[in-house]
Amino acid sequence: MRRVTRILHVVKRSLFVAACLLTAGAAVASPPTPRSAPVVMLDAGHGGSNLGAAGVTGLHEKQLALILATRVADRLRARGIAAQLTRTTDRTLTLRQRVAIADDLPADLFVSIHANASPTRTQHGYETYVLTARGLDVDGRALRSDTTTPRPGVPADVALILDDVERGASQWEAAELAARMQRALRDRRGPDGDRGVRQDAQHVLLGATMPAVLVEVGFIDHPLEGRQLAEPAVQSQLAEAITEAIADQLAD
Ligand SMILES: [Zn+2]
Repeated sequence: MRRVTRILHVVKRSLFVAACLLTAGAAVASPPTPRSAPVVMLDAGHGGSNLGAAGVTGLHEKQLALILATRVADRLRARGIAAQLTRTTDRTLTLRQRVAIADDLPADLFVSIHANASPTRTQHGYETYVLTARGLDVDGRALRSDTTTPRPGVPADVALILDDVERGASQWEAAELAARMQRALRDRRGPDGDRGVRQDAQHVLLGATMPAVLVEVGFIDHPLEGRQLAEPAVQSQLAEAITEAIADQLAD
């Protein structure tokens, strides 16, 4: 078993080296455009016919997500950080479209904003998700056939390998960003609601080649927290926490 792992490692390493060499070759033929300042893609969860969770005040998850994503974008821009939104209006987007918008840019960070709900309406607090290795595996197989990051001058098979390599590296950064997200939320919302960083095969994150996290800012259906989430002052707190986590991540 260990021998197989070693062989796989060597094969992966060789493919990576080959990909680098081929990319270097391609770069000589057509120089890549210089990398500009980082761009953050903010994804307001749900939208249009997809309402998301129903809030205790009548506010739906899709509305809260858009309010927060818009505020975070404004705050990031005020700090001189470029930010884009997957949607700026109440429209329906598939999960794949959301990631494709980020991949096409390409964005440097992907942050999907959601609110939670529980069957008993008793749960509360905030949590941040990153993809599991299992999620990455599923992703590799599912998307291999038709989706690669556009890489001018790079052959399609090499682009696939580079996508895989980038996804691996992105995992570390995603975990870091998720931890920052929880810390920033804890500072403002208190340690009581800290549900931690979680790993799951979150489908909205599948296919993202940049570090990607999904933040659940709180339980919109909880009698108390649901009411708080509808308050502009609390929304500002949440937006500031998310902004701070992103800005700190980019500053590192
Ligand atoms: Zn959601």
